[in-house]
Amino acid sequence: MNSQAVLVDTHAHYNDLVFVRDIPDLRQRAQQAGVAVVVCVGYEVPSSRRAVMLAQKYPDVYATVGVHPHDAEGMTPRAWEALRLLAGEERVVALGEVGLDFYRNLSPHRVQEQVFRQQLDLALELHMPVVIHDRDAHDETMEILKEFPGLAGVVMHCFSGERQMAEECLARGFYLGVGGTLTYPKSYTLGDIVSAAPLDRILLETDCPYLSPQPWRGKRNEPSYLPAVAEKLAELRGISRQEAAAATTANALRFYHISLPALGI
Ligand SMILES: [Zn+2]
Ligand SMILES: [Zn+2]
Repeated sequence: MNSQAVLVDTHAHYNDLVFVRDIPDLRQRAQQAGVAVVVCVGYEVPSSRRAVMLAQKYPDVYATVGVHPHDAEGMTPRAWEALRLLAGEERVVALGEVGLDFYRNLSPHRVQEQVFRQQLDLALELHMPVVIHDRDAHDETMEILKEFPGLAGVVMHCFSGERQMAEECLARGFYLGVGGTLTYPKSYTLGDIVSAAPLDRILLETDCPYLSPQPWRGKRNEPSYLPAVAEKLAELRGISRQEAAAATTANALRFYHISLPALGI
């Protein structure tokens, strides 16, 4: 792994059922591609539980736990209790993904907003960073986040806003999560944003099994494809791949409070 730069996939869904039989192969391919750490992101209680189990089983996997806006309507008192317990488990590094999705609208807006706020409260209480999902709900997401100024860290995963929103996120200390969409030919806005943002505020992610980078677009995504995103970032900023990898890996470890003594970082 020395000759190639080490990467962290800051947002992957190893807990997705499409991967259920493939984890050993996926991990091996990720390691071969230099992706040393994968953060497995929960999206409701069962997937959060699977994320925790994977993280406790595999040394290269960490977990986040949370309820996606799609599933906001299913939050029962029992589910809250389960989520709270999972958040306290070993190797859980953040709350997420939480937020608003006004594109697919699988839960009513008011319920999405309520469950989002409640999870931000939990993040504050537990001093945990949060992974934000925002689709077609930029203004509402930014407004709600304003109510929680003391969060331990915020990443706008799969950032899809305009430049002005990016500037506001950066001014508030948020990180921008960037994945396969950066490699798509028409990603001019995202390309501009990523070129101009401070390098120490960019996190790389696959969001696999979704959003494969360009060479694999339309196919199932996986962490071993992350170098294509790092390469695009390097190209856009006119820096070396090593530099892009070193910076984004440092960002990921700082954001999630992960240390990798085996790699000397
Ligand atoms: Zn998401
Ligand atoms: Zn996701």
